[in-house]
Amino acid sequence: MSRLGIEGVTKSFGRTVAVDGVSLDVGHGEFLVLLGPSGCGKSTLLRMIAGLTPLSAGRIRLDDTDITHTPPRDRDLAMVFQSYALYPHLSVARNIGFPLRARRRTRPEIRGRVAEVAEVLDLGELLERRPRELSGGQRQRVALGRALVRDPGAFLMDEPLSNLDAKLRSSTRAELTGLHRRLGSTFVYVTHDQVEAMTMATRIALLNAGRLEQVGTPAEVYDEPASVFVAGFLGSPPMNLMDARIVSRNGELRAVAQDIDVPLGIAGELPPRDVVLGVRPEHLAPAATPMLRAQVRMVENLGSDEVAHCTVGSAAVSLRGPRPLGMSTGDALGLGVAPHHIHLFDRAGGRRLT
Ligand code: ATP
Repeated sequence: MSRLGIEGVTKSFGRTVAVDGVSLDVGHGEFLVLLGPSGCGKSTLLRMIAGLTPLSAGRIRLDDTDITHTPPRDRDLAMVFQSYALYPHLSVARNIGFPLRARRRTRPEIRGRVAEVAEVLDLGELLERRPRELSGGQRQRVALGRALVRDPGAFLMDEPLSNLDAKLRSSTRAELTGLHRRLGSTFVYVTHDQVEAMTMATRIALLNAGRLEQVGTPAEVYDEPASVFVAGFLGSPPMNLMDARIVSRNGELRAVAQDIDVPLGIAGELPPRDVVLGVRPEHLAPAATPMLRAQVRMVENLGSDEVAHCTVGSAAVSLRGPRPLGMSTGDALGLGVAPHHIHLFDRAGGRRLT
């Protein structure tokens, strides 16, 4: 396992800046997930680490070696693609052994190593099959096997689960987490799927338009989003975000707007300022002393939970809780939130204030 250092890495394609000055350290044995919406630069960053896309600026180090200009095959890294990129005419065994044949290892060594990897990935019965004779999940394991066989310093994975159906994706997530734990290797994993990120990552790096918005453990990015962007990206539904003004009333600070009057539990005086008030849907509940006045537009049944989609003033606000919530379309509700579940962001820059 290796440590990966990404220092001020930038990539421009003509006028498009796909990755913009990203610096990030990936520690020994970490499972780092690069997360963000389509087009935010995740794949480009991963391809630069792999050596498949040259950098416009910055450096990449693997342990103490600068690999910025090292050809991909000489980097001690293995990449797993979304498409798996298996050779259709080769058996599973030969697909897995391919990187070792390319490095001119001896036959007995290759055979032994393929058998070991097949054991780890439970592919022993399938070694003579061709890729077309495998299910999507099995192909995905063969692609992993081909990466594993070299015992690389780090694994790079670009949305490796996106071709699997929902059920298989969920079981493969658990398998990958187990594999990471057993191998103790460094993983860098690209996805736009927040569930994959939250369940597998030791740390998440959230990208927005080529820039790093926040790096932290899943709990840190969920519980203390560093910006409006992160708050609005994570969660299902994501955090409710409402424009409000902070004012002092009787020595206490409150966030106020149309149908909003939320005591912040902070004593003090300050000139009024514009903020974005953030509250997660699961932290809102009907309250005897209402802080938000909501109109229910629609209630959605998710099976175990329900989501009530409401309006508060001019903002769309959702509330999530165990089914039944006991709310119907057209209801007028008074909602409350505990002070420690209130998030405040600067209106101008979108950064977290508290
Ligand atoms: P997705 O989840 O859709 O794969 P992504 O976050 O991986 O998106 P990238 O594929 O890294 O995003 O693309 C980042 C930006 O760079 C996009 O605007 C994309 O159009 C642009 N881009 C990527 N590769 C190239 C290329 N070879 N030539 C020109 N522009 C590119």
